[in-house]
Amino acid sequence: MTTTFGRLLLLACATAVMLLGGCGGDGREAAGPAPAGDIFARVMQAKKVRIGVKADTPPFGVKKGEYYSGFDIDIAQALAHQMGIDDVEFVPVTSATRSDQLVAGEVDMVIASMTITRYRMRRVDFSIPYFQDGQSLLVKTASPIQTYQDLGGRSVGAVKGSTTQFYMRQISPDAKVVLFADFKALLAGLEAGDVDAISSDQVILLGLRKNSGHPADLRIAGARFTTEPYGVAVPQNQSRWRNAIDVALMELWENRRWHTIAETWFGAGAPYEMEIPFSMTPVPR
Ligand code: GLU
Repeated sequence: MTTTFGRLLLLACATAVMLLGGCGGDGREAAGPAPAGDIFARVMQAKKVRIGVKADTPPFGVKKGEYYSGFDIDIAQALAHQMGIDDVEFVPVTSATRSDQLVAGEVDMVIASMTITRYRMRRVDFSIPYFQDGQSLLVKTASPIQTYQDLGGRSVGAVKGSTTQFYMRQISPDAKVVLFADFKALLAGLEAGDVDAISSDQVILLGLRKNSGHPADLRIAGARFTTEPYGVAVPQNQSRWRNAIDVALMELWENRRWHTIAETWFGAGAPYEMEIPFSMTPVPR
C-alpha cells in the first residue's frame, strides 16, 4: 500500500525526472534525456571526436605534414579508443587560442600541455590531471643565467596565453617579459638573441632544445620552480562528457596504457628519457 508520504515521494521523483532527468533512489545515477548541445550524446552516437592539440610543442604535440605525433597525441588516441570512439580529428591549437576554440565549439576537448589552473576554470572545465611538470628556463649555453633568481633586469620569453606569462611577474618582477605567439616563435626568439632566456614547462623546453638542431648550444638553467598538472579541457556544463573522460583516463592508468605511452616518450632509451613526477589515484568503481 502506498502511503501519503510514498505518493509524495513518487510525485517528487516523477517531477525530478521531468525537470532534471533523473531520480536515482538506488544510489546509481539514472541516465536522463540528453540536453541540447550534450557533447557526450553527440560524440558517442557519431563515434567521432574533435580534439584540440598542439602542432609545435615537442614532445606533446607536433605536426609534420599531415601527421601529428607526441605524448598528448598518443594520450588523445588512447583516450578516444578507451571511450569506444573510432574517428579522431585533430585540430591545431596554440596556448593563446585553445580556450577560445573550445568555448566556440570548434573542438570537443583540448589535450594540449594545458595546466589546470583556477583562473582557467572560470572559462573551461578540466578533467583530473593526466601528467605533471613544472617550469624552468632555457638559455644559451654560454649565458651567465643559472636560475630564475638571475633574471632581474634581463628579458625572458614566454608564450602568449601560457601560465609562464603570469608566473614571471610573481617570481621575477624585475625581469622584462616578452611574449611570443607560439613555441616555434619562442625558440626562434632565444636563438636570435631577442631575449636572454625563455621559460615554460621543463619537458617542453627539453623538447625545443632537442628539436632545435643545435642542442649543445642550449641548456636548462635551474630546477623546476612551479607545479603544472596537465588536464583535458572541456566546455563548461558538460558533466557527462567530463565524467566519461575522467573514467577513461583512470582506465588508461589501471590498464597501464598510460605507462606504455610514458615509456615510449620518457622511458629508458626513449627520445626524452627522464623522470616524470606524476602518479594518478583512480577513484573507486
Ligand atoms: N603548461 C603550461 C600552460 O598550460 C605551458 C605550456 C602551454 O602553454 O601549452 O600554460
